[in-house]
Amino acid sequence: MKTKVNPEDYKCKKTITILGSTGSIGKNTLDLLERYESQYKVNFLTAQSNVKLLASQAKKCRASGAVIGDPSLYEELKGLLSGTGINAAAGSEAIVDAARAPSDFVMAAIVGAAGLYPTMAAVSRGAVVCLANKECLVCAGDLMISEVRSSGATLLPVDSEHNAIFQVFDFEQPECVEKIILTASGGPFRKSTEAEMEIATPAQAVAHPNWTMGAKISVDSATMMNKGLEMIEAYHLFPIKPDQIEVLVHPQSVIHSLVAYVDGSVLAQLGTPDMRTPIAYCLAWPGRINAPSPRLNLSELSQLDFEPPDEMRFFSLKLARNALESGGVVPIVLNASNEVAVEAFLKGKIKLTDISKIVENQMNQFVGGVINSLSDVVEVDNEVRIYTKEYINKYN
Ligand code: NAD
Ligand code: MG
Repeated sequence: MKTKVNPEDYKCKKTITILGSTGSIGKNTLDLLERYESQYKVNFLTAQSNVKLLASQAKKCRASGAVIGDPSLYEELKGLLSGTGINAAAGSEAIVDAARAPSDFVMAAIVGAAGLYPTMAAVSRGAVVCLANKECLVCAGDLMISEVRSSGATLLPVDSEHNAIFQVFDFEQPECVEKIILTASGGPFRKSTEAEMEIATPAQAVAHPNWTMGAKISVDSATMMNKGLEMIEAYHLFPIKPDQIEVLVHPQSVIHSLVAYVDGSVLAQLGTPDMRTPIAYCLAWPGRINAPSPRLNLSELSQLDFEPPDEMRFFSLKLARNALESGGVVPIVLNASNEVAVEAFLKGKIKLTDISKIVENQMNQFVGGVINSLSDVVEVDNEVRIYTKEYINKYN
């Protein structure tokens, strides 16, 4: 992709491309970058369909280029950007090109397996990749981590739990880590009965008690599949075994995760639930910058609660642990069938409680197969989506 770049901009600024700029993580990233205009230059912004927001973001941060995933929106994007000098492009290949184009940082904030190729493109050219898109690691963790090793890329976890662990994990002595503890808010149905969850509406499911996030991750939080995906994400990001990953429900979302060491020490990272803190950590890494997140006032906190997760009501957690232990195609099946089922739930086609039943059914159908490349991952992912959609159509 051709771009008009002012060489002056690059003198001492760090350059950044945001994949998924119109989403919750993308907007929080731009909110921070706006405060540090003298330190960062935005190269490309990408989005799937919100062309108006994409264009206004690109103009506001004076990006070099904007890419819309849906090719039918190209003319509209071009029109909105005319006279600005900002390059317009469209299509999924153009998003991959944007990720591949030189920039110091790439914020990987596309939701779902759709982020696979662009994120891998950024990893393959050795960029510093701020990784929010957890589904990438769930589907292709082994491939991505081996690509990180060979390309010299740096993976910085944006997900608040993994960012917390990254901050307190002793990478010099991983053998001294007994376990990591991923905290979970428990979502909006932490205290609901199975019967109440049966009739939960999409609006209730996306109303997270502590965090404001995109619709898909909010539903994943309501089923606790989010924590399941995060167990798999953690396994790929840190030198630990599956049985060293524990999940603990902590409804206040103040302790973002913990690392327990062999001497009995437990180190944690705390903060208010605001994604601008982990995003700021990644953008400034290995330094730190000021983030506008509300400050934690410990004396105002009346209590911090903890409880083990209920894997009967939140069966997705159990399914994700099975996927983590099985490896191979199973995590791809878990993720793809979950993405399809979540979409069906948001469209009112199935109940919230059907999601884990559908995912379990698909995990029983697809068990074998060897994954050697990203195209193998995408092939399984596509096949599972087709079968899951058919299964949902016959489901009711
Ligand atoms: P979101 O739905 O708010 O935004 C998703 C972004 O991806 C949008 O910009 C959208 O245009 C783009 N996108 C969607 N489908 C696409 C496709 N097919 N091709 C290209 N681009 C596409 O999601 P979000 O809440 O910002 O989450 C993004 C990722 O970050 C997810 O993987 C999520 O699990 C992870 N994450 C989010 C949060 C949070 O607080 N929102 C926290 C931790 C991790
Ligand atoms: Mg998280």
